[in-house]
Amino acid sequence: MVQQIIIAPHSGFCEGVKSAVNRALHVAANKKNGRVILEGELVHNRDVNEWLYARGIALLQRDLDIQKEDTIIIRAHGISPQRRFYLEHFGCEIVDCTCPFVRHIAKIIEAHSTKPIILLGDRNHVEVEGLCGYSKHICVCENLAECSRLIDAVQQSSRSDECDHRSINFSKIDDGILVCQSTLDVDFLKAVHNLCDKKNFPIKFFDTICGATRRRQLGLRTLENCDAVIVVGGKHSANTKRLYEKMKQKIVAVFWIENNENLAEIDLNPYKKIGIAAGTSTPQSVLQNIYGEISKK
Ligand code: SF4
Repeated sequence: MVQQIIIAPHSGFCEGVKSAVNRALHVAANKKNGRVILEGELVHNRDVNEWLYARGIALLQRDLDIQKEDTIIIRAHGISPQRRFYLEHFGCEIVDCTCPFVRHIAKIIEAHSTKPIILLGDRNHVEVEGLCGYSKHICVCENLAECSRLIDAVQQSSRSDECDHRSINFSKIDDGILVCQSTLDVDFLKAVHNLCDKKNFPIKFFDTICGATRRRQLGLRTLENCDAVIVVGGKHSANTKRLYEKMKQKIVAVFWIENNENLAEIDLNPYKKIGIAAGTSTPQSVLQNIYGEISKK
């Protein structure tokens, strides 16, 4: 029987998500003609997106359906400059809800676009895909093994093809920079830093992990003595995935759910002390529903 429930500090919506959702709602409420269309899921949370669709905001299905009187909303994760340029050709209004932290990373990449750039993050995540549009010289590394292989390849003056789909010449790496996806694991960044030191690899580090991600990862420490932890967030949410993976390193019983409907799939009977952590795109209402349901067990 559940005796204690602890919610990790800072769980739930971050400022970037809050601002994107409020802006989208404001645009929808004031739209007179045409549709309000999301270029992609505004945030990676099904409940939030469905809530927006119920308020008349649509998800873009086909570019060719865009009309001049429509308003296109760019998601919090941002898009590539090439994609934005393409959308501008439709002549419709574009409202950019890209989080300022993601914009900051794009600016750093843009300012160093002719130099070799290592981007730490998930290759197939929309934020990383968008950032890759700011330079032709980016190599994405998803884990320590890839970073290590890249460094070895550069130090042996070979090409770095094996690390990414692009063929990038890192022969002048002294000039290079390293940036990270806003929602990266802080421990992964530290490990890469140590690896570069150990291999005597000169590269300028830009720690671009956003404060919201950092605080939520730090907040997990309060759950380390729990018998089981429930991580709440969308299945495509990079920061939720990070919370789940980090908790898995400490506790055996960790469950990743999207909302209280998924609670039925989990047997919490063997656990007395339950921890809850939520990603930055999980609304407080979802968190409270889950807390309420677990309290009844
Ligand atoms: S997690 Fe960070 S980068 Fe992403 S929307 Fe929130 S504040 Fe912005």
